Amino acid sequence: MAAIRLLIVPVLFVAQSAAGLFPRSNETNYIAALNACTQLDVLLGFPLVQSSGPSYETAATNAWNLQNSEFHPTCIVFPTTSDHVQVAMRAIYDAKSHYAVQAGSHTAMKFWNVVQDGVLIIFSNMRNASYDSVKDSITLQPGIHWAEAVTALEPFGVAPVVSEVLAQGSSSAVASPGSLPSQGYAADNFKELDVVLVNGDLVTATATNEYSDLFRALKGGANRFGIVTRYELYPVHTGTKDNQTWFGGLMLFNSSAEALLNATARYVREVDDPKAVLLVSLINTVTDGELVPTYLVTPFYNGPNLPEDIFGDFLAIPNILSTLGPMSYFDVAGTLGLGDDRGYVQHFGASALVGDEALFQDAFVHWQNFSEFYKDNFNSTTLAFTPIPDSQIQAGRAKGGNIIDAPGGRFAAVQIYEQFKAGLTDIPPDVITGIDSLFEQIPPSPGLPLYVNECDSRQKVFESYGSYELMKQIYAKYDPERFNVEHTEGPIGL
Ligand SMILES: Cc1cc2nc3c(=O)[nH]c(=O)nc-3n(C[C@H](O)[C@H](O)[C@H](O)COP(=O)(O)OP(=O)(O)OC[C@H]3O[C@@H](n4cnc5c(N)ncnc54)[C@H](O)[C@@H]3O)c2cc1C
Repeated sequence: MAAIRLLIVPVLFVAQSAAGLFPRSNETNYIAALNACTQLDVLLGFPLVQSSGPSYETAATNAWNLQNSEFHPTCIVFPTTSDHVQVAMRAIYDAKSHYAVQAGSHTAMKFWNVVQDGVLIIFSNMRNASYDSVKDSITLQPGIHWAEAVTALEPFGVAPVVSEVLAQGSSSAVASPGSLPSQGYAADNFKELDVVLVNGDLVTATATNEYSDLFRALKGGANRFGIVTRYELYPVHTGTKDNQTWFGGLMLFNSSAEALLNATARYVREVDDPKAVLLVSLINTVTDGELVPTYLVTPFYNGPNLPEDIFGDFLAIPNILSTLGPMSYFDVAGTLGLGDDRGYVQHFGASALVGDEALFQDAFVHWQNFSEFYKDNFNSTTLAFTPIPDSQIQAGRAKGGNIIDAPGGRFAAVQIYEQFKAGLTDIPPDVITGIDSLFEQIPPSPGLPLYVNECDSRQKVFESYGSYELMKQIYAKYDPERFNVEHTEGPIGL
């Protein structure tokens, strides 16, 4: 099989390239990938390694962002153990092949979870979650989706720190966000990580062992420092579905943007209660060629009600729907559903703002103008604010700190998100120009870090980190040949 492939595939490559079937094809990369895949055919074989067939096609076209679902990796590796990932990475490294890793498939960033003329490692067969009550640790395999993890662990009364939307894979923990103010960022809750380095070595990194620098860099470093094959996490003792220790839900508004923005800015500036969680999403849906506003506020409090001094401003604004009530943590984690709609081009961009009403109003005006001007391209546009209280940053520091190293809390991570209309397979150049202008119009407040989970792939997220210089040193130590940055797509700046 391997020998036959070596002979026929270059011919196929030329034919398919000429027919325009491969986006971004490159013959040198292809030959390198072919060498890696041939090697992997021998070492791992089918079904762990596949280059065609139904499982290959499903995996190759699985990405949430339509832009990432039109690639044909030279082969796909479906590991079931860390050993398989080591073998794959060694073959990739020896052949100098391009590669990509895919866990939950939910990145919006073009090219980050797919590869053309390279090897794709996809974690769809590594999706276990377990809880060890003696060690008080959660262990997750890298392909598990948050929803699966939360559901599997609920009977034990524990949960990992997750973001609000449950469709994502656990790699969002590598990337960092998802948060609970009392616990820090999701990544702050790593206890131990098994990591396959670029040369195929497997190491276990903790806050105190010889790989403590790597461990810290993985908390915010996205895919640049290795492939995580096991996450051991500090659990949150949430109780089960029956323990309704939280209060909150959804509130929907179809107007009152100004009041909502003022309430959000004040919350960001003043609220530092680690029991309070808030997400505010201003959404424009394009219906019959017009923007229709839906503003979504999701307040939660780990207590019997929403305290008036924290959430009173939001509660005073007339809404069109409210589901507020007692909830379990399980309910809180599932409030926004799966967000798993496929088949559209998706785009994220990030900013970060201190809690200042004028800044928030200004951001809204620019975003609204952008949405209106380019509306013919969109199904929807979203401007979302996630408050990061100081308690969250301090909780992370108490657990050893991360490489994001925010100067302190009391700011909002700002997400700018567009879902493009059906039929578009790429972002039109004029919209990219508009997106770039929007980034200039909503710059981050000085010194604040951007969320790597919610950025545009061209944004300099790592440069915005407090420990950027240290991050570069750690990268140089673990990947002196710069193999990762030269052979896989991901955040820029290393
Ligand atoms: C509907 C929706 C809602 C979202 N809401 C939130 C939110 O509320 N909060 C938030 O923080 N983020 C949110 N995100 C962003 C999301 O968390 C990130 O895009 C995250 O990276 C997705 O993880 P994944 O495993 O699905 O990604 P994938 O697309 O599979 O991978 C993303 C990146 O991580 C790398 N990677 C994957 N697995 C590994 C691994 N084991 N080791 C090393 N690198 C790896 C990949 O190579 C890729 O670069 C949302 C995304 C969507 C689609």
